[in-house]
Amino acid sequence: MICVSFLIVEAVCLCGWLTFRGCIIIYFSFPGELLMRMLKMLILPLITSSLMSGLSSMESKACCRMGVLTVTYYLWTTFIAVVVGIVLVLIIKPGTGTEMESNRLGGGPVMTSADALLDLIRNMVPSNLIEATFQQYKTDLIPILRVSTKTIQPNFVYVVPDDNDPKGRTVYLELTPPPDVIYKTSPGSSQQMNVLGIVIFSATMGLLLGRMGERGAPLVNVCQCINECVMKIINAAVWYFPFGIIFLVAGKILDMQDPSTLGKKLGWYGITVLTGLFVHGLVLLPLFYFLLTRKNPFSYIRGLLQAMVIALATSSSSATLPITMKCLLENCHVDRQIARFVLPVGATINMDGTALYEAVAAIFIAQVNDYELDLGQLVTISITATAASIGAAGIPQAGLVTMVIVLTSVGLPPDDITLIVAIDWILDRFRTMINVLGDALAAGIIAHLCRKDFPLRHVKQGPELFTD
Ligand code: ASP
Repeated sequence: MICVSFLIVEAVCLCGWLTFRGCIIIYFSFPGELLMRMLKMLILPLITSSLMSGLSSMESKACCRMGVLTVTYYLWTTFIAVVVGIVLVLIIKPGTGTEMESNRLGGGPVMTSADALLDLIRNMVPSNLIEATFQQYKTDLIPILRVSTKTIQPNFVYVVPDDNDPKGRTVYLELTPPPDVIYKTSPGSSQQMNVLGIVIFSATMGLLLGRMGERGAPLVNVCQCINECVMKIINAAVWYFPFGIIFLVAGKILDMQDPSTLGKKLGWYGITVLTGLFVHGLVLLPLFYFLLTRKNPFSYIRGLLQAMVIALATSSSSATLPITMKCLLENCHVDRQIARFVLPVGATINMDGTALYEAVAAIFIAQVNDYELDLGQLVTISITATAASIGAAGIPQAGLVTMVIVLTSVGLPPDDITLIVAIDWILDRFRTMINVLGDALAAGIIAHLCRKDFPLRHVKQGPELFTD
């Protein structure tokens, strides 16, 4: 009897503590949440006004050259990042040994590479522009992680397999009472805007406005005014950032799992990803920058520190976009027309860090499963990891979702993503930093390569370029 009462008291205390802890996390994370909201608020006006005003004043030949150079450079560096990841994971072999069990849960609808490609193209052509500003990427709805109903977290979207649903799944935003089997997707995925669709629409509008001459001038002026105002808001909001960042990170640490549950293999996997990110971001990308521009890459990177800190704190390259833009214009003095095009496109399709991580994670999962990958499969991983990173949205842990494409392309169980999820939130922060760094260095390189197309602007470099 005493034992039973003791257990009841203990259970009540535990529930009380969990509720209390939940409240503390919510209140403590609040200033950080405000920072995220502030940054997200600026994405839409920044992208539309930047692209529309930027491209409207460019000649079509210069524009075309810049577009081709940008996309080629992005694809090339992403592929290099994947190769770095593959080489490292094959050398370090973090997944070999017997300590970790694979998680073959089977079942569950999975996303194929064709699905992902169709989704990417679908997102390029939004059927409704207003909807695109709060539309979710369809791929984010793919149920990938089986989680226990005890571990439901407030910020995630949960998906439950449903036989009556033609796609075999239903999103549960309210989970009372919780169903037996649930899947988890990336946080906040139910409210992501379709950035790619907005980029394509704004770029097209910008190009057409340029061709319209005098008739397009009023709209171009409006866009320039909006752009200037957004930049002023960013400048003002910068004062709040250190405060927001401290609480954003502190809230995440409070919410963190017990690190003792992480195994040795997972530790080595983390080290492999971080080493790859370091090699790619601080050796190869700066080397490309130096070879192509003959300028010191590290003094350029110093100008980007603020954006890197924001990327680390928010895990979102889209949310960091306003600050990256500010750093490029104010500190690195990149031509504003180039920055206005290269950065939004990069934040959508160029994710070197994500591509590297996807390749490492897929091979790590194969190693845990004792699954020998042949050369053909390694090539498949390199191609699908590049494609999956292009399809990933610039939001926290989006790479975890699109990794299903990489795993299924070589016959690995998608449910095994659960093996790496425990440390994904921390790796996500570092890969987002490299994603942002990759975009920013690209802008510097493209600005240098296209300097003949923008001779006057190139000479006039200085903080005054920050405003139109
Ligand atoms: N969080 C990353 C970004 O926003 C995407 C990812 O790798 O999950 O760039």
